[in-house]
Amino acid sequence: MDHFLYQDGALCAEDVPVAEIAAQVGTPFYCYSTATLERHFRLFDEALDGTDHLVCYAMKAASNQAILKTLAALGAGMDVVSGGEYARAKAAGVPGERIVFSGVGKTHEEIHAALSGGIRQFNVESEPEMAVINEVALSLGMRAPITVRVNPNVDAKTHAKIATGKSENKFGIPISRAREVYAHAASLPGIEVVGIDVHIGSQLTQLEPFKLAYEKVAELTEALRADGHDIRRLDLGGGLGIPYERSNTAPPLPVEYGQMVKETLGHLGCEIEIEPGRLIAGNAGIMVSKVIYVKEGEDRQFMILDGAMNDLIRPAMYEAHHDIVPVQEPEPGAAPTTYDIVGPVCETGDTFAKGRAMPTVAPGDLVAFRSAGAYGAVMASEYNTRPLIPEVLVHGDQFAVIRPRPTFEEMINRDTIPEWL
Ligand SMILES: *Cc1c(COP(=O)(O)O)cnc(C)c1O
Repeated sequence: MDHFLYQDGALCAEDVPVAEIAAQVGTPFYCYSTATLERHFRLFDEALDGTDHLVCYAMKAASNQAILKTLAALGAGMDVVSGGEYARAKAAGVPGERIVFSGVGKTHEEIHAALSGGIRQFNVESEPEMAVINEVALSLGMRAPITVRVNPNVDAKTHAKIATGKSENKFGIPISRAREVYAHAASLPGIEVVGIDVHIGSQLTQLEPFKLAYEKVAELTEALRADGHDIRRLDLGGGLGIPYERSNTAPPLPVEYGQMVKETLGHLGCEIEIEPGRLIAGNAGIMVSKVIYVKEGEDRQFMILDGAMNDLIRPAMYEAHHDIVPVQEPEPGAAPTTYDIVGPVCETGDTFAKGRAMPTVAPGDLVAFRSAGAYGAVMASEYNTRPLIPEVLVHGDQFAVIRPRPTFEEMINRDTIPEWL
């Protein structure tokens, strides 16, 4: 459920008509709903009620400072995957003890910054990385808390570009080698083993792959404890999917996921961490765009928007579906038109939808891409020298620009001219 509904014929973000925001900030733009962000965070938090747990929002999904502050105020931890994200989490006021650091290529500098600024744990993805963490920790006179990310070789049954839990993927260490790697970790004086980490992919629409992975983690926990390791924390990653198409059957709910987690891992008495990104931010955001032209092709109509692949790359990158709806509610029973919905960028890949039946639109009309809150703004670029589009946060009947659109001058002035020119 989200808070983008028609009221009196106008699509609203909570209590603010989307067209009003468009009139003030111009199009295209991203718009997030505070109530939806909060609701989705709480769904996860409550799903793990009764177990010692921390929900660490995977901020790569949407990392605006205002979004982070909204979630941090509810007690959210953060899952970061770069030094930049770590700095963002700290800047939003998240204490180090609520930040976990994931990612396959943490650099010496990133590890140093996180250890100096405070970190809950590193999720280690390889032995060379563990050696560097050990070295940096010792140089600071510290012990670095770590989990090892294990790759359980489970098919997440999701898009190939976001499946991470098979042995052919670059992530984690093979679970078959885990005992050996933990033994090595225990021998390093700058390393403190605190638990196990697993993350098998994103946009999972079934519980079964999670369950298979978590059963393997439960088995491993017992084996590692028998080897003498103090396994007290299990980081279960993120990945629960969202319904991108209203017409499709919905993925499992956080409460069902939480129930499965308790059933599979509850007996171990570990603290549970989860790292949801998409499910918290995805349906909490829309991208609003304006129709520039409707162009008659030979055998089709093109709806040409002012938003493009550089603003929302998911359709081009993952063949992702976004429901696209008019901001002005269509008359009931109005006959639909079939469009290829495209942006103005000079790439055929700049296509949001092909053969999409939707209410008839005219130039100047506004449309909203639903479920664009996660992996939307954060993946945007300035390709074609198109400015990064603004982000707006709604809270009840208020809204605020949380990242303004840069001017052309600001964009151009970021380049510097060498002295020989
Ligand atoms: C991307 C990622 C997540 C979040 O995945 P979602 O599908 O957005 O929930 C969590 N943990 C790790 C390690 C990730 O790489």
